[in-house]
Amino acid sequence: MSFLHSDLPSDKMAREKAAPYSNRALARDMLGFLGEHKIDFLGVTIIRLLSEISWLYPAYALSQLVTLLGAYTLGADTRVIFTIVSLWVVVSIWRHLSIYISQMHGFAIAERVYLKVQEEAIGKLFRLDIAWHERENTGNKLKRIERGGESIYQILRIWIVNIISIGVNSVGILFVLSQFDLPLTLSIALFTISYAIIASYFTKRAADRARIVNEAQEEMSGLLFESIGNMRSVKVMSMGPWLMRRIREKSSDLRIKIEERMWWFQTASLTKNIWGQGFRVASAAYIVWQITKGQQTVGFLVLYYGYYSYFWSAIENLANISQEIVIAKASIARLKELLDEPVGIENDRGKRRFPKEWHAIELRNLSFSYNKQPVLSGVSFTLRRGEKVGIVGLSGAGKSTLFKLLLKEYENYTGDILIDDVPLRRISKLSYFERVAAVLQETEVFNLSLHDNVVISNMAKEQDGALFKRSLDIAHVTDFLHKLPLGPDTLIGEKGVKLSGGERQRLGLARAVFKEPEILLLDEATSHLDIESEQRIQDSLHRFFEKVTAVVIAHRLSTIKEMDRIIVFENGTILEEGSFEELYARRGRFFTLWEKQKLN
Ligand code: ADP
Repeated sequence: MSFLHSDLPSDKMAREKAAPYSNRALARDMLGFLGEHKIDFLGVTIIRLLSEISWLYPAYALSQLVTLLGAYTLGADTRVIFTIVSLWVVVSIWRHLSIYISQMHGFAIAERVYLKVQEEAIGKLFRLDIAWHERENTGNKLKRIERGGESIYQILRIWIVNIISIGVNSVGILFVLSQFDLPLTLSIALFTISYAIIASYFTKRAADRARIVNEAQEEMSGLLFESIGNMRSVKVMSMGPWLMRRIREKSSDLRIKIEERMWWFQTASLTKNIWGQGFRVASAAYIVWQITKGQQTVGFLVLYYGYYSYFWSAIENLANISQEIVIAKASIARLKELLDEPVGIENDRGKRRFPKEWHAIELRNLSFSYNKQPVLSGVSFTLRRGEKVGIVGLSGAGKSTLFKLLLKEYENYTGDILIDDVPLRRISKLSYFERVAAVLQETEVFNLSLHDNVVISNMAKEQDGALFKRSLDIAHVTDFLHKLPLGPDTLIGEKGVKLSGGERQRLGLARAVFKEPEILLLDEATSHLDIESEQRIQDSLHRFFEKVTAVVIAHRLSTIKEMDRIIVFENGTILEEGSFEELYARRGRFFTLWEKQKLN
């Protein structure tokens, strides 16, 4: 796997072709993300709505007071003034209380939704096919999930804090003002429309830039992640300078993209500000002119000024949050793409379960190409249940590819893989993987105890101590167990004890044995062991796997000497087939390979 994958032209094209993510889609997805919290969130929204509506009152109260106090004479009735002031106090208390309740509760919901979606996305990663994972690099995936989750949180927060207030301020204020001066209200409405057109022109362009920046950041973080993850090879193979050059290139590309994004956002702000302030001055001048003509009161000027401040701050707010929303939207769209990615296992619906009783796996005229480059052509052989078959051949012969097909990583081959009469393609991955175990050359170790690293492959038998012990014995993990400070409870992996290559492979085998598979695929699974240990493991595996059907790829021919049958691959086809004795006696390709290895 390499970060160069992210540079594949087909990948880029696919992204550029992606349909834009509309506001409607965002709203629909946000409702989906809210899930069971929808009703709670509606409650929060209603409280906040009432809070904002009540907050239209103070500016109105002030304008009334200005009018009343303007006409006030000493000793006149103060009851109306008193009522206005008392109501103002009540509204203020309610306002702050409601903000407290809606934010406490609303943010908690946002937090929960954020964690839930992240969990869902990680679950999705586990279900996605290997072919998908090979296309994307690890840093990208994590960044995508992290950013998407945070953006969902942010949008919910913006909804509670800003959007409701903006909505109420615009609609409520227009309504109140229309009771006093209709032409002015209409011109505010027209202003809002023109403002929205300008804002949307800029936001669309800024959105494109935001998406481009997001993707560039994902690529960058993928590259950094891999560089740090592969630190040992980076150091010993002097890859540092090359990687640094690549990082510098990517980072300067990213800088240019960020600057473009900034330009669009800043220019948008400036234009919108000039337009908004111009309108404010013009409309205030209009009211002053009306007052001089005796057609408006000073109270209305106070009301208008108060409301316009609200209105303007709502609109400014909208301009600010629309930038945040645009960026968040791009991240949510990327996360949603991941969540919607079709999954092989989900495509399993309607497929058959792996048969309980089966007798043979037949490869019938199997051919496969990577991007039109043929790798396997016309491969046919039958594995009887319980048989152990060794596969040998020079590097590049197609052995690992054959495994990938047996593991359902690729299914676009011609010919067939049949379990008795049922094509493997028609069998669900989930049920197939319950029966298969594969041990590859590199065993991936988690930072868990040795025990957990083994039982992880078979949750149903997690508590089965006898099986655990047997697995360690068969894979000869027991041989090095005494070296671990806490025995099976020793943490291994990143922060614990490091295992040698051979010990890791034995752990991998123990994990496979613990899974109790019916079909076992070993791809150079004992290559890091010395010949003696390998021989001992082979012996115990053979004894244990009486009923197991095993396919073993090995470079070291002594590994597969005892197999029931050996298949020699060359250039994607079967060259020879037979038991060790038969092949040896035939004095063909296998014989030559054997003799060569014996000399070394
Ligand atoms: P073996 O395991 O016998 O060494 P492989 O099955 O790994 O051989 O590879 C067979 C051929 O397929 C090689 O030429 C290799 O370069 C090519 N190949 C393997 N994996 C891929 C891939 N993901 N994309 C394109 N070509 C590949």
